[in-house]
Amino acid sequence: MNFITRFAPSPTGPLHLGHAYSAFLAHDMATARGGQFLLRIEDIDQSRSRPEWETAIYDDLHWLGLNWPSPVLRQSERGEAYTDALNQLWAWGLLYPCTCSRRDIETAASAPQEGAPIHGPDGLIYPGTCRPQTPDTTLPYPKNSALRLDISRALAAVAQNPLHFTETGAGSDGEHGAIHIPGTDLLTTVGDVVLLRRDMGTSYHLSVVLDDAAQRITHVVRGQDLFEATQIHVLLQHLLDLPTPVYHHHRLIRDAAGKRLAKRDDARAISKFRAEGATPADIRAMVGLRATLAPSSLQ
Ligand code: GLU
Repeated sequence: MNFITRFAPSPTGPLHLGHAYSAFLAHDMATARGGQFLLRIEDIDQSRSRPEWETAIYDDLHWLGLNWPSPVLRQSERGEAYTDALNQLWAWGLLYPCTCSRRDIETAASAPQEGAPIHGPDGLIYPGTCRPQTPDTTLPYPKNSALRLDISRALAAVAQNPLHFTETGAGSDGEHGAIHIPGTDLLTTVGDVVLLRRDMGTSYHLSVVLDDAAQRITHVVRGQDLFEATQIHVLLQHLLDLPTPVYHHHRLIRDAAGKRLAKRDDARAISKFRAEGATPADIRAMVGLRATLAPSSLQ
């Protein structure tokens, strides 16, 4: 079977045990299936990305014993592909400029007539303040504001094909197998997500979908915290006529208090364990993976 997966860290801090688990798992799965493990540097957030963190990523991953082919795809070099896709979506009338601040959204979303504000995978569900009746489709699209995807119009554009994906891991509620994405869920629990952030010229959702397609990823292995975002990714794949990979969302590595590890959690940085004399096998054991490849370790 054709199996291409990737590990896609952001160079905004040290890799920690959660990254090690994700990278090991993806690498193990690729090895077990005679496939490929690719690396992608997700550095669209130039205000937080640092070259020294990128160097540290290569260094830690090599130390862990992982290998990947060159060249590595870096999102900061993919601006043209992101702009092309935004041009397309804008010309189809699926995007609109939004000048709301986070404060504006909070205020509008918590207005009494709106009921309790709902949080989706992208924060508060956008209440639609800037959504036009008739979209502007004249190119170029404005660069001085965020651009949101009009979910309702986007769903109408892909109405002939049901949205679904295959999950070989598990969502946060144990979702597994064929996952159907009802349009009503996208409308009520996701809303009009931002596809162009003014400070980035793109967004996580748009870039990840375009890059997975550009790298011909067949299997996305990543943390369970991104399970809910997958419905946005599948919708974008349908809109942009891109294949939908198989998704494998894995358990999260948590600290002693049960909290998911964060970038700032230097206490669990791989580099710290290295400095203390740990071996890559120790790191595997710490994240609950067996030392040798066995199908049961691929959970
Ligand atoms: N860059 C993301 C992270 O560091 C991963 C995104 C993905 O795997 O889709 O959490």
